[in-house]
Amino acid sequence: MFENLKFLVVGAGFSGSVIAERIASQLNERVVVIDSRNHPGGNSYSDSDAASGIECHRYGSHIFHTSFDKVWTYINQFTQFNHYQHKVLTTYQGHVYQMPINLKTVNDFYGLNLKPFEAQQFIQEEAGKAGISKPRNLEEKAISLIGEKLYAAFIRGYTRKQWERDPKDLPPEIITRLPVRSNYNADYFKDPFQGIPLNGYGALFRNLLSHPKIDLRLGVDYFEIRDRIPSSCTIIYTGMADQFFDYCYGPLEWRSLRFEWESKDLQDWQGTAVMNYADADVPYTRIHEFKHYHPEREEVFASGKTVICREYSQTYTPGKEAYYPVNNAENNRRYEQYLERAALMPNVILAGRLGNYRYWDMDKAINNSLLLFEQIRETFENRA
Ligand code: UDP
Repeated sequence: MFENLKFLVVGAGFSGSVIAERIASQLNERVVVIDSRNHPGGNSYSDSDAASGIECHRYGSHIFHTSFDKVWTYINQFTQFNHYQHKVLTTYQGHVYQMPINLKTVNDFYGLNLKPFEAQQFIQEEAGKAGISKPRNLEEKAISLIGEKLYAAFIRGYTRKQWERDPKDLPPEIITRLPVRSNYNADYFKDPFQGIPLNGYGALFRNLLSHPKIDLRLGVDYFEIRDRIPSSCTIIYTGMADQFFDYCYGPLEWRSLRFEWESKDLQDWQGTAVMNYADADVPYTRIHEFKHYHPEREEVFASGKTVICREYSQTYTPGKEAYYPVNNAENNRRYEQYLERAALMPNVILAGRLGNYRYWDMDKAINNSLLLFEQIRETFENRA
């Protein structure tokens, strides 16, 4: 399988699959893609539940959204999208609120009926009370945006559960993923392009990897075959950077997730795709109900069956799946050491969310793979 091989991609998630597709279709070169799981798609994977026909995102909800024209055009070659627009609700002390924080959240929470211009001033005053001008961590950043009370209700408990640490010990960037709005716009994302692949992520990945020059090998662990890779082969590795180098500078920290699945004989259990749970004493962070991602599958949607899934955050230890990098200063420094080590190996490219130790969404991973492919192409053409 590896004889005379020029390109090996490790990991069949978005990052690896896009690079493999480009190498096969643009360079007309054979590329082997290996993944230790028995399906492609990494953590984006979805398939249909046998009993109900509901498309289930096996590693938690994945809503495709992007502002990159280039990424949208690229991915639309491999799938059509439905018109799903993501909205999130959050439960706090038995009441349901809109998330991200918008005018409805503020009015419901404070029992007010503010107009947008009044809400802007109100939130500014709340935020100003703490007198934080240069936020140094997630807590300070959140308070400087929304004030202590909204922070304590909607952010502190959820964030502690999600990251299992004090929000004071987390980087401020994490919270800037969430907008704060003074109008009634309840959209979770502000990108112009959004949707769920019509036939699911499994079908999307089967298309992405269908080029005859792509040799997909599932259930193959890189660490068991690495001795067989010819030294001239370019390895595009989308796994965890620390594991690649046998943890020689120590492990990088990751967050993992655990899911509890439940099938119910009900048409609709929670009325929406994602319900967050903000209270610190509710052990899970959110509940997914997957049929809401495909209202266009009318028969499945109307049926008397539904599938829900409780999401629990957990510390990553080897053997679990890595989901989120913990990008504090110490971990980032350690990652830099791995990066320097990788720079000494011209045939190894660290790619993707895990290889780059970055909290990227799917579109960012695709964008980076498209950019990376241009570098690979240049090197390849210069060699030829
Ligand atoms: N967050 C929060 N309350 C919520 C939703 C999100 O405090 O109801 C914070 C939390 O720190 C989380 C971050 O915002 O890690 C980013 O949330 P997002 O929904 O973007 O996370 P993802 O879907 O990638 O897990």
